[in-house]
Amino acid sequence: MTDTQIPNGLMIINTGDGKGKTTAALGLMMRAWGRGMSVKMFQFLKHTGARFGEHRTAERAGISIESRGDGFTWLSKDMDETAAIAIDQWAHCKAAINAGETDLIVLDEATYPVTYGWLDADEVASTIANRPPHIHIVVTGRDAHEKLVSIADVVTEMEDVKHPYRDYGFKAQPGLDF
Ligand code: ATP
Ligand code: MG
Repeated sequence: MTDTQIPNGLMIINTGDGKGKTTAALGLMMRAWGRGMSVKMFQFLKHTGARFGEHRTAERAGISIESRGDGFTWLSKDMDETAAIAIDQWAHCKAAINAGETDLIVLDEATYPVTYGWLDADEVASTIANRPPHIHIVVTGRDAHEKLVSIADVVTEMEDVKHPYRDYGFKAQPGLDF
């Protein structure tokens, strides 16, 4: 444990339809890392070995971002495979949480496998609730399950007021969206 660490970790959820859930979690990792805290992100659904801007930054800084997924979309052909990868990813998350060695753990897009029933909401919520008490957990994704909300200390809902994809037909931009 580092000197700067708060003894009682917070459970933080960034949810809602607006842009900024993952970005805010990355910002928090940057802030914590600057304070000498150990940080890790586990990404659900995004491609295993994804090379977005955040992965490139993390690599240079020696920060761990583990993505396990097949780039899930509504058009995914093999939902069983997508679910199996998410279940495997949760095992990695759980091991890291229970190990108690990382001060801030981000479970990026973790709301979806819970919503789809691939992960048991009670099990995810109890693992987080019964974690080593100094660890901060951040969960991102739309439609956070009520069981996750009920054990959270901070819940922020990003509101979608405008988004250029929808409003102007803009495409995702490197450096801004991935
Ligand atoms: P970001 O990673 O940019 O912080 P997010 O984590 O809040 O976004 P996700 O639901 O994970 O949002 O979606 C990721 C991608 O979808 C990003 O490219 C983002 O720009 C885009 N996006 C986010 N919100 C919206 C929206 N309301 N309408 C259309 N696209 C969106
Ligand atoms: Mg996101």
